[in-house]
This record gives sequence, structure tokens and C-alpha cells, in this order.
Amino acid sequence: MTASAATPPEDAPAFRLDNDQLAFRFTATLSDRYGTPVERLPVPGRLDDWLAAGDLAVGGEQATTADLASAHRLREAIHRLGTAIARDEPMREEDRELLNALLREDQLCPQLTEAGLSWRPAPGRHVRGALSRIAHDAVMLFGGPQRGRVKTCENPECQGLYVDTSQGRNRRWCSMNVCGNRAKKARFRGPRTTTAAY
Ligand SMILES: [Zn+2]
Repeated sequence: MTASAATPPEDAPAFRLDNDQLAFRFTATLSDRYGTPVERLPVPGRLDDWLAAGDLAVGGEQATTADLASAHRLREAIHRLGTAIARDEPMREEDRELLNALLREDQLCPQLTEAGLSWRPAPGRHVRGALSRIAHDAVMLFGGPQRGRVKTCENPECQGLYVDTSQGRNRRWCSMNVCGNRAKKARFRGPRTTTAAY
């Protein structure tokens, strides 16, 4: 496949950027994994667009097909790890190693910005550095005190990841605007049409 990095298709699906956790915003670039999956990073140019939308595009480097393949691998590893943690199941060693290797190979520099602490890639490795930042975000979450708040969305077709920061730890959806609304609409239509409503 030789899709041009500079010209993403006009009908490329919009990004979902409403997840507060960087690593999970990234896993949301493939949505409805267990229904009709929507791939929001179909070509390298859309990876560039996503990094730019999240203030992760540090330089003018464009993603290659190999970068996109690495991004997809990282994304699915984070999704499997987060799902295992949410379900209190063992993590796959290959997935842990993929994240750990990325962090070993690509050093990130902590920088103090107006917004607080920001981990920046070493100069000259922008796309790979951005992937390392995403891996770093996942590692800090999965290995840190918020680990117990990692959950999967209750929409069976979505099962997207989020961090439940609600006081009662009773949040059910990856996004109130997407899966919360779907569930609400399904309820209005009655229990028999629940699956059809998605
Ligand atoms: Zn969801």
C-alpha cells in the first residue's frame, strides 16, 4: 500500500479526542472494536493529523508506512493491557515488552511548560518520539496509583478504555456523548430494540 502521507482521504472518519488520558485517546483511534470497527488512522497522513491535533507533532517530520504499522501495534498492545488490567487478568508479556522497549530505545525529556510537566522526545525523532510519549503515558498509568480506576466501556461493541475519576467510581461509558447517548436512546426504544439501536 502506498497511500500518500500528505493526502488523507476526504472521507476519513473524524477523531474522537474526548478521552482525558492520552494513551486511551490513542486507543480510541480504532472504535467499536467488537462491533463494526472504525479505523481512524487508515493512512500515515492521518497519524500526522492525530499527532498535530494532540500537540504531539514536534517537528515537520511526516509519518511513514512503517510508523503507521508501529502505531497500530502500540495501540493494540495498550488496548490489550488496559483491558487485562480492567478485568484483573494477567497482562501479555509481549505487550508489556513492546511498551518497555519503546521507552528504553527512545529517551524522553521532562520539560516544564505553562501547563505543567510535559515529556518531549529527543530532537530528530518526532513521530517515534510521539509514540514513545503515548507508551510512557500508558506505562505511568498501568504501573501507577490510578491503575485500579482503569475500566472498559459497558457498550459491548465498544469496550473502549477510560480512567474512572468519578468519586463513586460508577462511571459506565467511555464517553457520555457517544456510548452514554447510545445507551440512553436504546432505553427509550425499549429493551427489545437494544442491539438494533447501535
Ligand atoms: Zn464506549
